[in-house]
Amino acid sequence: MNILVTGGAGYIGSHTVHYLLQQGHQPIVLDNLSTGHRQAVPSTVPFYHGDIADSALVTSIIDRHQICGVIHFAASSLVGESMIDPAKYFENNVVKTILFLNTLLKTGVKHLVFSSTAAVYGEPRQLPIREEDLTEPTNVYGQTKLMLEQVMAQYARTYDFHYAALRYFNACGALPDGSIGEDHQPETHLIPLILQVANGRRDHITIYGQDYPTPDGTCIRDYIHVLDLAEAHLLALQYLWNGGESGPFNLGNGQGFSVQEVISLARQVTGHPLPVQIGPRRPGDPARLVAAAEKARQVLSWQPRYPDLAAMVASAWAWHRQHPDGFK
Ligand code: UDP
Repeated sequence: MNILVTGGAGYIGSHTVHYLLQQGHQPIVLDNLSTGHRQAVPSTVPFYHGDIADSALVTSIIDRHQICGVIHFAASSLVGESMIDPAKYFENNVVKTILFLNTLLKTGVKHLVFSSTAAVYGEPRQLPIREEDLTEPTNVYGQTKLMLEQVMAQYARTYDFHYAALRYFNACGALPDGSIGEDHQPETHLIPLILQVANGRRDHITIYGQDYPTPDGTCIRDYIHVLDLAEAHLLALQYLWNGGESGPFNLGNGQGFSVQEVISLARQVTGHPLPVQIGPRRPGDPARLVAAAEKARQVLSWQPRYPDLAAMVASAWAWHRQHPDGFK
């Protein structure tokens, strides 16, 4: 099937493109390369350098390639940045995605898998978090994703439009062959930053707050391998093609690790002492995020294949060691 992947040059997007190819589908990538990497997409994959809000471009891609489903990653996705520059997030994520959705409605593309986030929940009242729990984002990034979920829910009620919003917990890891991996400029995510220390590119890792109400005082997250996320996107699209009901799905392993625990594991994987400094909390960070992903397991038949965090860090380390400068 011909599947339009927006943001296919980004971290999760490029791993999904790889997975779609492996499964015999034809991804077509639309990416404005604001954060993605052209080299992350195989040269055999049709690639359009452009914007999701460019209705004429999106319409021509859909017509030319007879697109029958969309996986929509393209967005700004940094919690910290979203608190400093909310205008960028409302424009890039909310405004542009609504324009994109409206183009899909006009062109008759009915099925969309949406890149959402555990940040829609905010500070959870109970763990693990289920899809029907309260959504009260503590940061603008999560707020933009929640707003879009609400727009899509209304579109699904009003139009012949069907979506799955995949609420990722913390994506990490890389393709086992080390050919693609995580490369953000600037890097802000915990595991790649730790591995930059191991690579000698930074002299320490700063822990953002050691005064959270958790056993060691550092934030707890549920880490999920990027290839498990990639597989979930195809399963979700197939579910929609088969008439599945629109709505959200949590994607996580259901196991929480503190920042300190991630650093300890990375010490074992890399053999590097990984010096730490304790810094202030990062605005917008909830103390704990751990997924209940039973819905994705039961409804999508999703079964994470790489649930071991040490193995996730090892696959990320393979990429970072081979590509200390990322895709450059
Ligand atoms: N974190 C940290 N130091 C860093 C980067 C991240 O202590 O240099 C913490 C961050 O506060 C959060 C966790 O690591 O509790 C995961 O952050 P990341 O940015 O990787 O993902 P997010 O949870 O924001 O999606």
